[in-house]
Amino acid sequence: MSLGPGYACAECKVLLRPRKNITVLITASFGPYQIWQADLWECPECSQQVILGYGMKPWAEHYQPDFKDHLAGVDFTIDGISKELP
Ligand SMILES: [Zn+2]
Repeated sequence: MSLGPGYACAECKVLLRPRKNITVLITASFGPYQIWQADLWECPECSQQVILGYGMKPWAEHYQPDFKDHLAGVDFTIDGISKELP
C-alpha cells in the first residue's frame, strides 16, 4: 500500500509524523480478539494521534495457547465492533 505524499491532518493541513511502534489489542463481542503491531502517528500541530500501518497479519490471536502472555504488552485497546454512523 502506498503512503503517497504522506498521511496528513485534515484540520491542520500538515503531514503527520510517525511517533513509535505500538502493540494494539482489537476486541470482539466475546472479548480480546487479536493483537497487532502498528505505528502511532501524530500531528505536530494539534497532537492528534492516529494508529496506522498494521502488520500483514496479527501478532497473536485469541485461540492461540500463549495469547494471554501477549496481553501484558498491549499499548492500546481498540473496540473492534463497528458502530453505526449517527
Ligand atoms: Zn492537526
